[in-house]
Amino acid sequence: MHIPYGRQNITAEDISAVVKALKSDYLTQGPLVKQFEEKFANYVGSKYAIAVSNGTTALHLAAKVLGTKKGSKVITTPLTFAATANCIEYCEGEVHFTDIDPDTLTLDINKVRKLLSENPRGTFSGIIPVSFAGYPVDLEAFRKLADEYGLWIIEDACHSPGARFLDSSNTWQKCGNGQYADLSVFSFHPVKHIACGEGGMLTCNDEKLYKLLLELRTHGITKDPSLLLENHGGWYYEMQTLGYNYRLTDIASALGISQLDRAENGVQRRKEIARIYDEAFADTTIKSVFVPNDIEHAYHLYVIQVKDRKSLYDYLISKGIGVQVHYYPVHLMPYYKIKGWRKGDCPVAENYYEQCLSIPMFPTLSSDEQVTIINLIKSFYNEKVSYNTSKRRKQEITA
Ligand SMILES: *Cc1c(COP(=O)(O)O)cnc(C)c1O
Repeated sequence: MHIPYGRQNITAEDISAVVKALKSDYLTQGPLVKQFEEKFANYVGSKYAIAVSNGTTALHLAAKVLGTKKGSKVITTPLTFAATANCIEYCEGEVHFTDIDPDTLTLDINKVRKLLSENPRGTFSGIIPVSFAGYPVDLEAFRKLADEYGLWIIEDACHSPGARFLDSSNTWQKCGNGQYADLSVFSFHPVKHIACGEGGMLTCNDEKLYKLLLELRTHGITKDPSLLLENHGGWYYEMQTLGYNYRLTDIASALGISQLDRAENGVQRRKEIARIYDEAFADTTIKSVFVPNDIEHAYHLYVIQVKDRKSLYDYLISKGIGVQVHYYPVHLMPYYKIKGWRKGDCPVAENYYEQCLSIPMFPTLSSDEQVTIINLIKSFYNEKVSYNTSKRRKQEITA
C-alpha cells in the first residue's frame, strides 16, 4: 500500500483535451491560453488573469511589475514554500520574515503592524501573505494596514484556489478575486488543486498591471499598435522593456481548462475529508487547525500538530502512508541564514515546524484509505480507535 500526501487526478476527459490540443495548429500561446485565463478569472471572480509557466515565475513577475528593485524591503511569512520569498531576491530586493499566527498559521498581522510602526515610513514596499494550507488570509485587514503605509500586496494563493472569507460587509471574498490584493498568484504543480504539469496564473483587477504583465511574460515585446513608438508595417514589434519567456503552453492550458471543470467538486471533497479528520482527532492530543464559520478553507494540505513528530513520520512512512512536513521555515534555509536570519527570529513558526505533519489530502482519497490513516495515527498515540474498517465491512455485507 502506498498513499501519497497529495495526488493529481487525471481523467479520460483531461487526456482527450490534451490530445485535441496536440492535434491543433497551436502548441504554445494559442487560443487555449486565453480560454484558460478567462475561465480561471471567472472561477476566482477577478477581472483579469494572466497564465504563466509556473507559480514561481508568476511570483517573479508580480514582484517585478509592482516595482521591486535593489534595496526594496518586502515582508512575508517564513511558513511557505521558498519561492514566495525568492521572488524578492530575484529583483535584488530584501526579504523580511515576520512570524505567523499560531491559530491560522498565516502571517500575523499584529506583528507586521508592530514592525511597520517601529520603522521609518517608506522602509517597506510590500507584503506577501500566504493563504497557508488553504486557509484564506484576512486580506481585508492587510489591505487596510498596507494602505496606511502605502504598501502593495501580493497574495500567494498557491494553496487556496476556492477558499473564501467573509469580510466586514458580510460579503464572501474568494482568494484571487482582486478585491483586496494588488495581485494574486496560483500554481498548477500536480500536487496543487489544479494540475497542468507546470503552470501558474496571476489575477488582478487593474488593467494597467494586466497589460504590463502580458508584456513581461513574453520578452517585454508588444505588437499593440496603440503602444508602438514607431510602426514599419505588419511585421513590426517592439521590445519596450526587459521581459522573459514565462509563457504557458496551449497543451498545458488544455489540461488546466479540463481540470478547472472539477475544481469546485475537488474543494468540496477536500472539505468532506477534512471534516472526517477533524471529528476523528477531536478530543485527542492530535491537534488540527480550527476553522471558524466565516472561513471556507480550501484544504490544499491537512496539517496535524503532534508530539514526537519524527517518530510518527517514520512510522507512517514505514506503513506506506505518504506524509510530509510543510515547511521548514524559510528564514532558516542556509541561503537566508547567510543573510543574517537566525533561529529565534520567528519562534511561532519554528515551534510549529517541530510538531507539524501533513497527512494525505486529495479528492480521490477513498474512505477506506482515510480510515486506515486515522487508525494508524490514533493507535500510535494509544488513542481509542473509533473507526473499525472490518466492522463496517461486515455491516455493509449484512446490510
Ligand atoms: C507551489 C508553490 C509555489 C510555487 O509554485 P510552482 O508552480 O511550483 O513554481 C509558490 N508558493 C507556494 C505557497 C506554493 O505552494
